[in-house]
Amino acid sequence: MATKKHLIVGAGTAGYNAIRTLRQSGSQDQIALVSAEHPYSRMVLPYFLEQGISEGHTATVSLNQLEKWDVELHLGRRAVSLDTQNNKLTLDNGDELEYDDLLIATGSSAVRLNLPGADGEGVHGFWTLADARAVSRLVSPQSHVAMVGAGFISFTILNGVIQRAGQVTIVEVAGRILPRMVDDAGAAVVSRWLEARGVTLRTGAQLKSIEDSGGKKRLSFADGAPLDADLVIMATGISTNLSWLKGSGITINQGIVVDDHLRSNVANVYAAGDIAEGKNRITGAMEVHAIEPTAAEHGRVVGANMAGREVAYPGSLMLNIVGVAGLDIASFGAWDDPDATVIVGRRDATNSYRKYLLRDNRMIGAIYVGESNETWSGNDLGMLKGLVQSGVNLDGWADHLSRNPFDIKRPYLANRVVSSLMPQTTLGQSSPSPR
Ligand SMILES: Cc1cc2nc3c(=O)[nH]c(=O)nc-3n(C[C@H](O)[C@H](O)[C@H](O)COP(=O)(O)OP(=O)(O)OC[C@H]3O[C@@H](n4cnc5c(N)ncnc54)[C@H](O)[C@@H]3O)c2cc1C
Repeated sequence: MATKKHLIVGAGTAGYNAIRTLRQSGSQDQIALVSAEHPYSRMVLPYFLEQGISEGHTATVSLNQLEKWDVELHLGRRAVSLDTQNNKLTLDNGDELEYDDLLIATGSSAVRLNLPGADGEGVHGFWTLADARAVSRLVSPQSHVAMVGAGFISFTILNGVIQRAGQVTIVEVAGRILPRMVDDAGAAVVSRWLEARGVTLRTGAQLKSIEDSGGKKRLSFADGAPLDADLVIMATGISTNLSWLKGSGITINQGIVVDDHLRSNVANVYAAGDIAEGKNRITGAMEVHAIEPTAAEHGRVVGANMAGREVAYPGSLMLNIVGVAGLDIASFGAWDDPDATVIVGRRDATNSYRKYLLRDNRMIGAIYVGESNETWSGNDLGMLKGLVQSGVNLDGWADHLSRNPFDIKRPYLANRVVSSLMPQTTLGQSSPSPR
């Protein structure tokens, strides 16, 4: 029997999960992988910086395993154009690859601020393994590190920077830290925690230039004194790697627009992960969710569909979870919905902050800030995620939560969140072990 040829572009979380699912589904079809980088997980790079794992442990799959899975490899190669009429992908060395179906999983790249000195020596991003190697080599107990950007990605590496640098200053143009992850009250708790640990916060600071000055990097601002640092790490946003798709006929908005099977407007072309614009599970809106769980789920759904199953994806849950110096910070779903009913709990003595957002008796979003020992002794984080993800009807429990905002265990158990989530596994079955 003639086999199909599946072509995967991008060896990040989405691409790898598609290949794994194809083979674990028993597919004997041909698989080819094109990727600018070898397969590794960006999400674990902060642990490499913290020296908790070696560089080898950032890999998601070995070349040996890919060989066993009989994957034709084009690593270190970029896709430069796509001809969807003739099912042909062109690489940067001029090679052309044909396919029966194609997964575009080229993810996103870090974006630096467009200002003088942003590309200079001593200024680094933290998006790729090469970035992580460079920062890890340069940071030392003698160094003053300026982190430009106080968003989620900046916070994922903050722990490592605090552990390994002598001095840390965070520079953020917005009036507070984590502007797209938590609300004002949550950010205030985190700010206090960081300042008590010697981190300097400069919010509302508009960076104008970075220059070399006396062996240091001098950061100048629209207002206020300049800042001298030894190393600058810029985490100022990301953009999807879409430019190579110009002229391909693929419909693009913020990302590649996909249907509930993660197909683009071209029936044999799928998209997954950071590059895809799919359904938000809570609101139904079409959005890019540039997070690891979405990339993994998307990849698995596409792999199953390529293998011939008909798997629909219910949409992804926006979630960000990060821990910094013993404080855990998280937000789920529609945590900033201005029209939701809001329940707030706070215990300043223990740096605990909770915010629950409800609509029609369902929890549609939540914010969590709490010390790590509290997080892991109570598992409130996991329960909150379950409550938002399951969308169980909390009829009668809003009053309980208003009076006892720190007791989410009872509504979680009484409303059988676990059993309502059980049948909702991504592929409708339990996941086999990774290898
Ligand atoms: C430091 C850091 C920490 C993070 N922490 C978290 C976290 O705690 N939680 C979380 O949910 N998310 C986290 N993320 C985000 C998460 O890593 C991404 O959402 C995830 O990597 C997306 O997977 P992807 O497969 O879509 O894309 P990527 O992982 O970006 O993979 C894209 C692949 O495509 C390749 N590629 C790009 N362009 C081309 C081309 N033209 N031709 C061929 N190949 C190409 C790239 O080389 C790469 O191999 C973090 C990211 C970083 C950088």
